[in-house]
Amino acid sequence: MSDHYGDVKVQLGQMKSLGEDAEKEEVDPEEEMPVSSPSASPDSAGCCITTAPGTDALSTNICKQKGKRSRKNPCGKPLQGFPAHAVKNINSPICEQTLLIKGTGKILQGKSAESNGNYVAVHESSNTQETRCEDEFKLPRKRRPVTVDTSKAKTSLEALKLSIKELQWKEFHTGRRAACDIYWHGVSFHDNENIVSGQVNKFPGMVEMLRKINLSRAVRTMQELFPEEYDFYPRSWILPEEYQQFSTEIRMVKESDATESPTFIVKPDGGSQGDGIYLIRDPGDLKLVVGAQAKQAVVQEYIHKPLLIDKLKFDIRLYVLIKSVQPLEIYIAKEGLTRFCTEPYQEPSQKNLSRVFMHLTNYSLNVQSGNYVHSDSQNTGSKRTLSSVLYRLAAKGVDIKRVWSDIIALVIKSVIAVLPDLKVHYQADIPPAKPGPTCFQILGFDILLMKNLKPVLLEVNSNPSMRIEHEQEVAPGVFEYVPSPVDEQVKVGVIRDTLRLMDPFNKKLTATPHPAGGGSDPVEVIPADGDSQGRSPDNAGNLPPLCLKQVYPKYTKQFSHLRLVERIAALFIRFLGVKGNMRLGPTAFRTFIRTCKLSNSNLTMASVDILYIDITRRWSFALADSREAGMGLQAFVEAFFNLAGRRFKSLALREQVVSLLDLCESHLGPQSGAEDRRSLSCSRALPRGGRTPALYLPRPRPISPAAHRRATSQDCRPHQRPKPRTLRANVEN
Ligand code: ADP
Repeated sequence: MSDHYGDVKVQLGQMKSLGEDAEKEEVDPEEEMPVSSPSASPDSAGCCITTAPGTDALSTNICKQKGKRSRKNPCGKPLQGFPAHAVKNINSPICEQTLLIKGTGKILQGKSAESNGNYVAVHESSNTQETRCEDEFKLPRKRRPVTVDTSKAKTSLEALKLSIKELQWKEFHTGRRAACDIYWHGVSFHDNENIVSGQVNKFPGMVEMLRKINLSRAVRTMQELFPEEYDFYPRSWILPEEYQQFSTEIRMVKESDATESPTFIVKPDGGSQGDGIYLIRDPGDLKLVVGAQAKQAVVQEYIHKPLLIDKLKFDIRLYVLIKSVQPLEIYIAKEGLTRFCTEPYQEPSQKNLSRVFMHLTNYSLNVQSGNYVHSDSQNTGSKRTLSSVLYRLAAKGVDIKRVWSDIIALVIKSVIAVLPDLKVHYQADIPPAKPGPTCFQILGFDILLMKNLKPVLLEVNSNPSMRIEHEQEVAPGVFEYVPSPVDEQVKVGVIRDTLRLMDPFNKKLTATPHPAGGGSDPVEVIPADGDSQGRSPDNAGNLPPLCLKQVYPKYTKQFSHLRLVERIAALFIRFLGVKGNMRLGPTAFRTFIRTCKLSNSNLTMASVDILYIDITRRWSFALADSREAGMGLQAFVEAFFNLAGRRFKSLALREQVVSLLDLCESHLGPQSGAEDRRSLSCSRALPRGGRTPALYLPRPRPISPAAHRRATSQDCRPHQRPKPRTLRANVEN
């Protein structure tokens, strides 16, 4: 532990010195996009040839001319000035293997590891023959730098520039005519349109999926299936649609125990940085607006006993990299931030409910308090490193390995909860037949530690702030951006190592090391010295060890049983039909029922139609401003649960769902499962020996909202209206 955190300091030192020493990158002005031009690729729409990640224009041209050039030795020395990998392609009899035909997405003779090439990058390194010549002749390994389009990086730009400089890659800050290897977007996948190759740092649909309502829905579905495993998310209700239910439940809680006076936090769906958040103790205090103006929000049980340091409430910002969704690869940053309140904490009372500096940890709010302390030190001030806080807890005897492993479990489970919807978005935006980039994304997890050290998920930010400077009043009324050492230490490391992991030329870092998983216990994940995952096989002499730690597939075994909804999503996607769709029509729903042979005397096709209409109608608010009509994934999951309940009445919900999935998949053949059928089996991991106390609010569990919907299948209460998938977020958190 201590070694790791020692490493973090060394890393910062190295980062700084490298940043100073690194030669300034010469940018080829001809390659840069003019500032006024849109940054999308201006290539003609025709079928021109470009290169897949890992090749470059030079190598492509040479390959095309291979027949004309005379080369005595097929594995001869590289021509002066030619990148080694380009020469490798010249010499290789299979140099066309990585050519990508623009406009078709086809990769000539490529050997992708996945049937769906859109889900994983096709790396030059996947070619098993590529190193043959090198082995014999030891070619010098000079490769062209990885190219990064930073034209849409927005507030991440400063940290990104430092990272690129450190890696000695090439930045295109106004875009580039030719394709770049990596596109860094500040807001969403759609910041640059028409990207057909390379890698983009955002997934389509992530912004939408991580909005407060959608995240709550996704976690809630998992809570229904795995209540003990998903008890890290506070009990939540969606407003305005679940107002009645919320009121009834709170009344029941109060009636059952007169001493109970729970507090709730209300968060606007699209809000960020604490905007519009308030605390209540009675449903009557909800600021509800009825009718069309009704504001969508989540009302959530307020964690009233947080862990305090220096009498202050704080939360953790953890950076998590989703490197790929298929196969699922998750990395967690070993270092994070902690954000402190600026007024000593008191348990909520009617008097102090509005004291935001006491209850809300947002930087954007607390920075306005006179008590906010900007500090150059990592372990003082209102923003500190996670390691400094963990050290402090360790010094008090806290089992921080346990805390860390619980945090990792929380992260993996949360990602598993949103993955099904993410896959639907992904196939809609980048269907398998369409040329497109692959995606990765850094997420910001906001986590609160309860007094009993149990981590609680507050929210996941699709667009976490990567600013490394903060605004400061340098003279009365004069504000300037000044560097923030704590932010720089953490964020530059996260960006730089994300880039290293996404390096299209680095096969060691881009390979999936544990296809079947097999780590033992997430406790092992605690940053430790000698961790081979953390070593830096690229440019190892110059760069510090990776600050990102793979946790999935490393811990597949412990979490694969949770990936049930993904199997439902795989069925859903299979029956969507038209590429680019995100909703199932009535005919497709019937086809699903027929193909999976689900209709029988208890489930006639007429009742299937009624089920479709009933559920789709109740989700119809979701369609009001959408391009498509029909049944979305979340409605389909509800229908699937309903069908499973009818078919396997005697079983508990989870077993019902597993049985129905098995049945459907048995009628569909091999294509139906999600990425790794082995990992999607329903073998349960052992529950963690009784040490996960439920969150504060007693859970009489009268009935969960979704179960309530199923039970009242004729109830036509409107559902919340998820934003259309074209919606763009403008804020970072
Ligand atoms: P936003 O996106 O506006 O920052 P959050 O969900 O992160 O919204 O909430 C803002 C702050 O409110 C958090 O940083 C945390 O301090 C506090 N908070 C949020 N949810 C809870 C909760 N359920 N219990 C206690 N405090 C909470």
